[in-house]
Amino acid sequence: MPDTISTADATAWMTRYAEAVEEQRDHLTELDSAIGDADHGANMDRGMRAAVDKASADRPEFLDELFKGVGMTLVSTVGGTSGPLYGTFFLRLASTLGHETEVEASAFAAGLRAGLDGVIARGKAAPGDKTMIDAMSPAIAAFEEAVAQGSDPAAAASADAAEAGRDATEPLVARKGRASYLGERSAGHIDPGAASTSLLFRALSETLSA
Ligand code: ADP
Ligand code: MG
Repeated sequence: MPDTISTADATAWMTRYAEAVEEQRDHLTELDSAIGDADHGANMDRGMRAAVDKASADRPEFLDELFKGVGMTLVSTVGGTSGPLYGTFFLRLASTLGHETEVEASAFAAGLRAGLDGVIARGKAAPGDKTMIDAMSPAIAAFEEAVAQGSDPAAAASADAAEAGRDATEPLVARKGRASYLGERSAGHIDPGAASTSLLFRALSETLSA
């Protein structure tokens, strides 16, 4: 893990995430077709493409500008529940990082934690409800741990934790969102939002190790 994270690092993270979402668009949609309405891949691809386009047009100098732009773009371009939730994540990340060109890894971890708290406040999902929280919450705990230990190169543990959280959604019965309408029949499928969140943390790990 680098000691500091700059706007250039953060922009690279968002670009890498948009690429991963594009690559996995059909897979995310497939997951959402099993327990939702088959739009999660298209939703996230549209949103992240627009977010990265905006960042390359605006070339934000400060971390809060970058993530505010990403959050607002996701809120306005992603139809569906996940847009406002991811939007909230990035808006809270922006306001916590503040008007800086670079922050310490510990401040970045605090930003991620605030983002997660925002998603929970907005969506009212708890761990185990079979949502994006099930990937995000362990990923951020692992990121904080890695920062505290100064041990984990490039936050790989955080991406691993997100993927384990994603996989652990498979047997769960959904208690939030569209998938909850299926009741017991939602069990046996990985949650699409947990899958897109695992891409977010894999992209972060890859960015910080590059
Ligand atoms: P929609 O369900 O409106 O079609 P998407 O398909 O884009 O929206 O996103 C669905 C994902 O949103 C789910 O897989 C789940 O991870 C996430 N989600 C739904 N409701 C909540 C909630 N209340 N809190 C956290 N995440 C949620
Ligand atoms: Mg959907």
